Amino acid sequence: MSKLSALTEPFGTGGNSVQAFDVDKVRADFPILSREVYGKPLVFFDSGASAQKPRVVIDCIREAYESYYSNVHRGAHYLSQRATDAYEEARVIIAKFMNAPSDKNIVITSSVTESINLVAATWGRKFLKEGDEVIVSEMEHHANIVPWQMLREEKGIIIKVVPVRDDGSFHLQDFEACLSSRTKLVAITEVSNVLGTRVPIKELTRIAHERGAKVLVDGAQGIVHQGVDVQALDVDFYGWTGHKLYGPSGVGILYGKADVLESMPPFQGGGDMIVRVTFEKTTFQDPPHRFEAGTPPIVQAIGLGAAVKYVEELGMKSIAAQEHSTLAYAQQELADIEGYREVGTAPDKAAIISFLVDGLHPFDVAAVLDRQGVATRVGQHCAEPLMDRMGIEGTVRASFGLYNNRADVDALVAGIRKAKEMLS
Ligand code: PLP
Repeated sequence: MSKLSALTEPFGTGGNSVQAFDVDKVRADFPILSREVYGKPLVFFDSGASAQKPRVVIDCIREAYESYYSNVHRGAHYLSQRATDAYEEARVIIAKFMNAPSDKNIVITSSVTESINLVAATWGRKFLKEGDEVIVSEMEHHANIVPWQMLREEKGIIIKVVPVRDDGSFHLQDFEACLSSRTKLVAITEVSNVLGTRVPIKELTRIAHERGAKVLVDGAQGIVHQGVDVQALDVDFYGWTGHKLYGPSGVGILYGKADVLESMPPFQGGGDMIVRVTFEKTTFQDPPHRFEAGTPPIVQAIGLGAAVKYVEELGMKSIAAQEHSTLAYAQQELADIEGYREVGTAPDKAAIISFLVDGLHPFDVAAVLDRQGVATRVGQHCAEPLMDRMGIEGTVRASFGLYNNRADVDALVAGIRKAKEMLS
């Protein structure tokens, strides 16, 4: 068998032959990928922090500002109607993409950070009381730790933490050991932004529901690699962020089940989320508008709709197959570097590689890579408790997008070899 033939089996396709697309053709959709950095072609391995934008998204944003921009939901004039239609159409596109029952399940926020804070501040404040337990995992991003700690300060809830194993894998029996009769919520990442570990959300949700707990998924790193079907997962909340799915920054999504959203008080007060305001009493809109006070991220949401259409056209299964193939190639090539260590090697991990090189400081490695035009991220990746668990200060992280190809991997490998030469 050739060295590469074993690497082309697509991930998550149940054995059906979903083809990876022609990545070189797709790269041409992303204008930034043709630029150079320090005289070297840009190699972008920081999509986990924020992904680059295809031309259709950039054009959609420009068109919105140039031809129909206006505030939404409040103007009687033509432009406001157009902008409102485009904004609400984006909600419909996003609902279909997530297989939500209705666009009424889709709250438009500014980010997944805001989505999680919204749940903590509304559902959490209303339904959690002293002694109630919220389960998170050891590999959460700070965005899915700190809001629960703030609620702990306020309400006296208990936060329980599911451990991850040394290889970064997540096991349902470790999760089940954390459950108790006081568990009210499981707030968990779908894919670790550091380790790439996937959490079996469907199974976890079934177990949590059997115990009467609700489930909130931080899908920031999940939806970009594998898409989502919220009805199949049966989760109560699913949050994600637009800029990691090739859309603009400043927009996020919170999916919630209808009855759960309806049971929640407003998040912030202001325009747009009310039915009637008097000085004596205010009545609120139904979800999702109840949770969207003030002027929303209008053009960002419209741009996110364009990004969703773009990835849907490529097909999430094809994206997963493409990324899986590139990940497998990278893991194979990187393993040949002496002193290289991948942090997080769970089976079936998503296309995120955190690594260390013996004797070299991760910041130095990332700096040398940068000078070769290779953009990675270095540090704790907003996951300090996970770094403590792994007994490390930080890692270099190469996070893959749909546009990374094997030439990018070769540049990464060459860059690490150069760092070894220069720094050892
Ligand atoms: N959760 C995870 C798993 C992430 O990777 C990130 C961003 O890196 C976030 C939450 C926060 O995303 P945002 O800053 O867009 O709210």
